[in-house]
Amino acid sequence: MADFITRFAPSPTGPLHLGHAYSALLAHDMAHATGGKFLLRIEDIDHTRSRPNWEEQIYDDLTWLGITWDDTPLRQSDRLSDYTQALHTLWDRGLLYPCSCTRRDIAAAASAPQEGADPGYGPDGLIYPGTCRTKTDRSSSFPEHQALRLDMQKALDAVDQSEFCYTEQSSGADETVCIPAHDMTRKVGDIVLSRRDFLGSYHLSVVLDDAAQGISHVVRGKDIQPATHIHVLLQRLLGLPTPIYHHHRLIRDEGGKRLAKRDDARAIATYRAEGKTPGDIRQMVGL
Ligand code: GLU
Repeated sequence: MADFITRFAPSPTGPLHLGHAYSALLAHDMAHATGGKFLLRIEDIDHTRSRPNWEEQIYDDLTWLGITWDDTPLRQSDRLSDYTQALHTLWDRGLLYPCSCTRRDIAAAASAPQEGADPGYGPDGLIYPGTCRTKTDRSSSFPEHQALRLDMQKALDAVDQSEFCYTEQSSGADETVCIPAHDMTRKVGDIVLSRRDFLGSYHLSVVLDDAAQGISHVVRGKDIQPATHIHVLLQRLLGLPTPIYHHHRLIRDEGGKRLAKRDDARAIATYRAEGKTPGDIRQMVGL
């Protein structure tokens, strides 16, 4: 088996832009330089935003860039039974609870004077104030079609660890990055692990999929790094291995802003239509 197995995991919710090209080319180059494998995963779990035409465009753009992948792409929409199984496991352990709060409810509760502090933001948005935490009997049967939150304190108790660490390789050497467990309650909070409008969540599926694809090295943008401690906690809870992480620099526009999906001007398809070559794209992203 190859020692180095990495992946590129785009969501088919818009065109790939220069930032995606950098991420995919970097991971692909690293796999080739080490004789490892490069896998593709289509993160189409959010069926409300994913479109088949964007998935087709992903294959097309990557092929044009000279990227090949070593196995059939994994599609999250084919993995719902695995996500269901993991959610049932966590529910049976009393680590999840249903939540019907809207974003507006959360903002209102988090900034209520009796809470005493300003609402904080974590890697998952506004830190949940716990409104629904004790509302449901957790020994009841699995709640279908409802948002489910992870009870962070109970999850921490279940893994009984004082800190969460992983190896970061982006600086060239191995660096151990840790976050104390108490920061997970204060700075992350009770994150959503399954959504009302679709089963599962990015955090849940990413750890299950990385394990299912045997990923040894996750190469992705620095924008996702703040969520990595969530992934390490979920790996501990679900008995999954923690890969090595390489969070790379972000590609920004002239104004220094990170590129967004809707930034059509920097879409690979636009550059292709303008007659640019894959070599031009490599040069533009500094590879
Ligand atoms: N689907 C995510 C994105 O497009 C990728 C997340 C990851 O690589 O872990 O940003």
